[in-house]
Amino acid sequence: MKNRISPPSLPGLPFRVLLCLAMTLTIPINALSMPKIALFTTGGTIQSKGDDRLTLFEYRAGRVPPDELLADLPELKDIAEIEVHEISNVGSGNINTERLLRLARHLNQTLDRRDIDGAVVTHGTSTLEETAYFLHLTVKSAKPVVVVGAMRPFTAISRDGPYNLYNAVRTAGTPSAAGMGVMIVLNDTIHSARFATKGHTYHVETFVSREHGPIGYVDSDQVVFYRRLITRHTTNSEFDISKVESLPQVDIVYGYQEASAAPIPALVADGASGIVYASGSPAFSDAFLAAQSNGVVIVRSDRKGAGRVVLSDSAAARAIITSDNLNPQKSRILLRLALTQTTNPAEIQRMFNEY
Ligand code: ASP
Repeated sequence: MKNRISPPSLPGLPFRVLLCLAMTLTIPINALSMPKIALFTTGGTIQSKGDDRLTLFEYRAGRVPPDELLADLPELKDIAEIEVHEISNVGSGNINTERLLRLARHLNQTLDRRDIDGAVVTHGTSTLEETAYFLHLTVKSAKPVVVVGAMRPFTAISRDGPYNLYNAVRTAGTPSAAGMGVMIVLNDTIHSARFATKGHTYHVETFVSREHGPIGYVDSDQVVFYRRLITRHTTNSEFDISKVESLPQVDIVYGYQEASAAPIPALVADGASGIVYASGSPAFSDAFLAAQSNGVVIVRSDRKGAGRVVLSDSAAARAIITSDNLNPQKSRILLRLALTQTTNPAEIQRMFNEY
């Protein structure tokens, strides 16, 4: 299988000059035409092992270090030069603020280097969309950044990890992927971090971009894109985590028939600066008023997984913010970043409209 990754641009040195130089110095010619990709590893199923080849569920995280991941996929050497940065080796439920900030900072420093063409991040799929959206808003580079995971452990029959990783590296090394914001690649499909969500508990085609569809595909002959985003991200984002040591606490409350308001004051007492609610319940109103009087910002999202949240006039008059069509877990990410800049509801609403 051939993939068409064009040579990365080498500012100041025409490719023919480099080619002659390579021939004189006997540098392998493909080393000049290959992109250099920074691989950031965080863990997840893609780096997990089970007891045998049929163990698809009860496997253990943290078992596959980056060198084993790469040794298992020698084909990568033909398409990219890989530089490894290990951030963690944990299930995605253990990705916390410290790891998120460290990942984003390392990515920004590394992508700033002229010799790096793009980056790939391995991640557990359960909260992958949260990290991907966080990076979409905080990476300050137009170079391609791809977050990748797997639904089947490293040891399973028909494991999906190696080809997902191969395709993620191909995508990160593709010049036309620049400026697309952070992407999620699994199952030969390229999703935008803005729209993708994990949509199935265990099938390999788990990621879906429900209303908007994928932005491209990683086909066997080439990486193809069909759309660009108009929402703000990466180089056009106002969020700067370079000097941030922590992020405000934001929690999520779920609405259902006869939902109790008890979690709301408990979360305020726990230190929440913001609460996102996934659909309403009559009991929530008074608790939200009390939370707001303590300075807590309230955002309404929805549990349906598609569609914009349109607020009633009375909710808008009570300074409730609408999440547009961001799901609750991504609304939480945006609200945490928004609260690093302001607590003004009108200003935070502007951010939800733009990102
Ligand atoms: N439990 C895993 C995680 O999110 C699931 C996965 O990686 O697919 O880390």
